[in-house]
Amino acid sequence: MSRRRIIAGNWKMNMRLDTATALAKGVAESVGENPEVDVVLCPPSIYLSAVGTAVEGTPVGLGAQNLYAAQDGAFTGEVNAAMLTDVGCGYVILGHSERRALLGETDQQISEKLHSALAGNLTPIVCVGETLEDRESGQTEQVVETQVRGSLAGLDAGQAASIVLASEPVWAIGTGNTATPEQAEEVHAFIRKLLGEIFSAEIAGQIRIQYGGSVKPNNATELLGQPNIDGALVGGASLKVEDFAGIIHAG
Ligand code: PEP
Repeated sequence: MSRRRIIAGNWKMNMRLDTATALAKGVAESVGENPEVDVVLCPPSIYLSAVGTAVEGTPVGLGAQNLYAAQDGAFTGEVNAAMLTDVGCGYVILGHSERRALLGETDQQISEKLHSALAGNLTPIVCVGETLEDRESGQTEQVVETQVRGSLAGLDAGQAASIVLASEPVWAIGTGNTATPEQAEEVHAFIRKLLGEIFSAEIAGQIRIQYGGSVKPNNATELLGQPNIDGALVGGASLKVEDFAGIIHAG
């Protein structure tokens, strides 16, 4: 089955407001009115409204980098799914490896966030990925399986079809050490088989799995050409219009 590609830019905690809105406008311009792929920008939450305004009326989607899995209440500093939809978000990144490593986010927390995102009509982009140590000790599949099963716990098949997964080897993020297309495809094929076991082959065939980890215009075509790679989650190269556009338009 054919899955529409999804290219998302994770801006992390970068840029000031004027650069953010200029970048968003530049991306929207380069994308045009009828792109062949879904394009999503994930700016820092404080700039979501401004970036949303900058891409209003264009096919460029807006995503947050995180949410808090609770309704309104005494959760100082946090933002929930309803607030994100209020400012125009259609997507939210969950369980990015930086949040797992730096903030101790667990699969259980990610699963709670996932349910909250779906209840709030946000499309979650759920990140998983092995460290270099995991890979070198032959633990990649085991680690990724634990993350997928834990993060997607309690999801029914109907919900699962609408999510996006991002397979991001931690050793490839921000390092320039991009996984080879073969290395990436091997993990993606494993994840799709696993999704087939958890849900069904039909549902697994519908779930889009992005690759993330030092995707650049010069390696995007080969990565995106793999049968089980359905898009990219892009950090560094999403901070420049030319680079991000090069990935969006990679054939
Ligand atoms: C990321 O942070 O999700 C990422 C893939 O970053 P980079 O493209 O910079 O490796």
